[in-house]
Amino acid sequence: MGYFRRFITKISRKAEKVNKNQSMLRVFKFGGASVKDADAVRNVADILKRFPNDDLIVVISAMGKTTNALEAILQAYWDKSGDCKKLVENLKAFHRDIITDLFGSSSEYISTELEILFNELAEKCTAEPSDNYHFEYDQIVSLGEVISTKIVQAYLNSIELSSSWLDARKVIATNDKWREARIEWDSTKGKVVTSVKNELSKDNRIIISQGFIGHTPEGFTTTLGREGSDFSAAIFAYVLDADEVTIWKDVPGMLNADPKWFDNTILLEKISFREAIELAYFGASVIHPRTLQPLKRKNIPLYIKSFVNPESKGSVIQSSEENDSKIPSFIFKMDQVLISLSPIDFSFVVEENLEEIFAYLNQEGIRMNIMQNSAVSFSFCCDKSVIDIDRLITHFKESYIVKYNEPLELVTIRHYDDATIKRVTTDKRVILEQRTRETARLVMLNI
Ligand code: ASP
Ligand code: MG
Repeated sequence: MGYFRRFITKISRKAEKVNKNQSMLRVFKFGGASVKDADAVRNVADILKRFPNDDLIVVISAMGKTTNALEAILQAYWDKSGDCKKLVENLKAFHRDIITDLFGSSSEYISTELEILFNELAEKCTAEPSDNYHFEYDQIVSLGEVISTKIVQAYLNSIELSSSWLDARKVIATNDKWREARIEWDSTKGKVVTSVKNELSKDNRIIISQGFIGHTPEGFTTTLGREGSDFSAAIFAYVLDADEVTIWKDVPGMLNADPKWFDNTILLEKISFREAIELAYFGASVIHPRTLQPLKRKNIPLYIKSFVNPESKGSVIQSSEENDSKIPSFIFKMDQVLISLSPIDFSFVVEENLEEIFAYLNQEGIRMNIMQNSAVSFSFCCDKSVIDIDRLITHFKESYIVKYNEPLELVTIRHYDDATIKRVTTDKRVILEQRTRETARLVMLNI
């Protein structure tokens, strides 16, 4: 079916369902902040109760800062730098408190299940790691989502909101690029569709599953990259042809700037996939950048709503571009460093130079946020935290003069005009600037 046909069919199918009061298939995603303590879990249940007639696939992240805690556990395990067992104990205590609050004296079943999980993790601390750090990362850090979903599902069942638990490690098929696994779409579709159908046929309208994790053909656990649970929700929606996806967040929706850096932010009520992909690409942190493409492909609208105010409207990302240019959006990246490389022999920067510079950056996992070249130099900006400048200088010192400038900030303005440029450049010196018709990008120093 052509794209357009499919699009029309989808819209009319959804309208029909709404008219006939038919049940919809919705995919929800709840991030770490929305399950950070017992009250937050109760709030998730309240939100789910608002959709009594729909089939819900609920994708959940690890509770609060659990993923960070698991990263610390992994580190202690890997280089024996810390007390791995103690860190496991602390993480267990954090979850135990939530369980006690949620279940009181009837916590036995879920406690036993988690006891087993945490015992396995503590046991792991005493074993020798394999020789692959990234592999070990996925085996350990993936557990946060397993634990959170077990707790939420047990809680829902305890309040008679019956639900089933779907193990994403069995249905989300990936390759073995540890920590950044790529989805095997066909295999994922087969597995997800079969298991979801099976669960829904048991009269459980709510299916709880994990964000962030998948499995290789050999059955090893993989992860999809930090903050990857949004993407998991999009994967479920894509393969199931869901009617819509909602990401429940602690912000009212998609704002035109991060309130951390900007006063008077404006809610973007309705924007296009195209625009949202641009914003995510330039670093808007509300949604994980890989989330949007699959939804765009199938024209599945993505709602971003507040879990604090679930009845408020929030934002919707959909296909129409009519509202896109009405409000300028700002994306700030702080703590940037600008690096410039110029060939020592005063030669021009040509493909050969770019090839060796890019190869180095790729091998070191350094992501450039903006780049520019002139006849005699190549410059790029990246997060200060991802680069070891001394190492870069040592690597290139034979053939390049390396200069750098920090701390800088990089701001991207979509739909800019003179006033918006002025607003962000006050008291700043602009060091590098790029403009296209829709987007201005400025690297600036405080003065
Ligand atoms: N728990 C994972 C993380 O914190 C995945 C996610 O929350 O989206 O990165
Ligand atoms: Mg998280």
